[in-house]
Amino acid sequence: MNFWLRNKNIAAKVRFFIHLIAKDFHLGIYKFIKPFFPAGWQRNIHYFKLGIMAKLNRGNTHYCACCDKQFKGFEDMGEGSHPRKNVRCPGCHSMERHRMLAGYLEKEKEKFFFNGCRILYLAPVVGVIQVLKNIPDTTYKGADLDSIWADEHFDLMDIPHPDSSFDFILCSHILAHVHDDKKALRELLRTLSPKGHLILLDRIHDIPTTMEASKNTDAKEREKIVGQSDRFRKYGLDFKQRIQNEGWNIEEIDYASTLSPASIHRQRLRTDEFIYVCKRSF
Ligand SMILES: [Zn+2]
Repeated sequence: MNFWLRNKNIAAKVRFFIHLIAKDFHLGIYKFIKPFFPAGWQRNIHYFKLGIMAKLNRGNTHYCACCDKQFKGFEDMGEGSHPRKNVRCPGCHSMERHRMLAGYLEKEKEKFFFNGCRILYLAPVVGVIQVLKNIPDTTYKGADLDSIWADEHFDLMDIPHPDSSFDFILCSHILAHVHDDKKALRELLRTLSPKGHLILLDRIHDIPTTMEASKNTDAKEREKIVGQSDRFRKYGLDFKQRIQNEGWNIEEIDYASTLSPASIHRQRLRTDEFIYVCKRSF
């Protein structure tokens, strides 16, 4: 409210007021009534809100490779001791890792995509969905346990599709959340075509060995062991070896290192996140 009293710019006051309404609608009333809306309605409301926020934040300081728009700034995320400034795209809610991936896929599209390429995106988020759906002459399927953004709902450890069903699978920040990541990796191997690509994104910590919580631990114990209640493991520097052990060749891509500091700043990317491109090893 101090912002409202201090700021003499009428347009800024209007933007701030609309932002408050949108935020409260989303966190308060909308959160309560959301389960009663069909998924299609929920998606449309979300797109409507993104459209408003994109217009309010138009500018040319920052660029989002996911929605291909420019903004005067991104949204702040995180709370308490871990606030993160200027990180989420107001037009598609992409984070640093999503924009990094969008830039990389655009650069390497001929390597991954071809006429008739069958794409599977696990745990889809808005910004990346539109990147993958915009690739011409491909078929797209999004899957998750219960997300409104998914076309199908299933468990990654038991994918209900025949062998070699997909040519490109994107699995972003999921493996740490399933209780048996080896089983999930075997399912990914089974459903990917022999010449297909699997892209993995996950948070890798600067610890020599991955820390794991067993299937039977409750949320409180998991928070103590791996630092987050909805995760079963905290991947360490043995991440690549763990993937290789399940029958994959894996290549670590440092996409940010191919960009200038100005471009990294403009897109608000991180320099400590990597993309893992995997292929079957046999
Ligand atoms: Zn965006």
